[in-house]
Amino acid sequence: MKLQEIKQIYQKSIDSNLLPFIECDACGHKFFYPRARCPRCFSNKLQVKNSAGVGSVFSYTKFNTKSGESVIYAIIELAEGVRMYSNVFAQRIYVGLRVKAIFKELKGKRVVYFEEEGA
Ligand SMILES: [Zn+2]
Repeated sequence: MKLQEIKQIYQKSIDSNLLPFIECDACGHKFFYPRARCPRCFSNKLQVKNSAGVGSVFSYTKFNTKSGESVIYAIIELAEGVRMYSNVFAQRIYVGLRVKAIFKELKGKRVVYFEEEGA
């Protein structure tokens, strides 16, 4: 698959409120960031799959925007074992917090965020 095709499949999934990831058919490595080759074994035998959209906070950083808004940026580890960067909405943030994917429109494009499970 070409990177452009992968990006199109990704956007289609996200437009349908599904969280895509890639699984390498050659070595089984799973990753989120769209790539035409596996970052572990360089194979191009890749499959786009959809995640259940749940996981936990692996690591995070918290900062304030110029307007004083508090923003949490985190590495999420999905149930499938994939790690990805995302913004998280949570009252109290900590490593291991259970989160789920949510989808929002941003500047005309549908994007993925995470929020506390059960929020
Ligand atoms: Zn691989």
